[in-house]
Amino acid sequence: MSKTALITGAAQGIGKAIALKLAGKGFQIGIADLPQQSEKAEELIAQLKSSYPNVKAPIFVPVDVSKRDSVFTAVDKVASHFGSLHVMVNNAGIASVSKILDATPEQLNQVMNINVGGVLYGTQAAVSKFIELNRGGDYTPSTVENPPKQIIGKIINCCSIAGNQAFPILSLYSASKFAVKALTQASAKELSSLGITCNSYAPGIVLTPMWDYIDSQLSEVNGLPIGENLKRNIDNIALKRGETPEDVAGLVGFLASEDSNYITGQNIAVDGGISYV
Ligand code: NAD
Repeated sequence: MSKTALITGAAQGIGKAIALKLAGKGFQIGIADLPQQSEKAEELIAQLKSSYPNVKAPIFVPVDVSKRDSVFTAVDKVASHFGSLHVMVNNAGIASVSKILDATPEQLNQVMNINVGGVLYGTQAAVSKFIELNRGGDYTPSTVENPPKQIIGKIINCCSIAGNQAFPILSLYSASKFAVKALTQASAKELSSLGITCNSYAPGIVLTPMWDYIDSQLSEVNGLPIGENLKRNIDNIALKRGETPEDVAGLVGFLASEDSNYITGQNIAVDGGISYV
């Protein structure tokens, strides 16, 4: 029987590449994104249907990940549609660009509610489904004498290289991604004994609409022409090219698979070596 994965922010960019990767690995796919992304989500569904006609058709669920109820409803819809849930990818996020002295309460609340709240609520909603559907409602933690017999669910969160190192002008974004790393570690410590692993992926500079936005905002602040911020950073990337959404999806495919069953609490960089150059 096919397993089911729900990916937030899957209508475009990294989330879309993850949906395609996981579908290629045989997962049934729930695509969660803002209601205004429904057209892009339906295009992705058409693409997935024609590529994988023998798998139950993907479903789009509108969600605002910054709202707890909205996330619980989306998770519920996907689990009811497929009758199962095994992998939750908390991918949705936004960039926030400002100098530290200019950052406003509104910017702080927005980036924290989406990037951190989205991960927290996605984890809460998915875990309650994992336990209900895959563990018969049993919340009793396993012990050394009686370790988890199987992995019943996987939480995969989107962090960033900005979650390992703070970057100027991206202070609020960095703060949110440091928090995602903390939630990932805490979730792993609290949930692994229930047979649920929790890891995060930390991309570098990924060429998506989000990077275009960051680039345009950075240009306004540092005066560099559009595109120049990437050129100046390429030399810091060991692999000497910008990252594609597919580069990220490869790691997430591994984290969603049984090959990663003994990995939990990790924040894994997929950044072309930018962190180490
Ligand atoms: P993107 O802007 O191309 O896609 C983000 C998706 O998330 C969009 O479809 C958007 O509609 C959705 N989204 C935004 N707010 C939402 C909300 N409140 N509720 C539901 N969905 C929402 O960005 P991307 O580059 O694909 O980024 C995906 C993830 O990767 C984000 O968490 C981002 O922080 C992270 N990331 C991106 C980069 C990069 O360079 N692009 C680097 C490191 C980490």
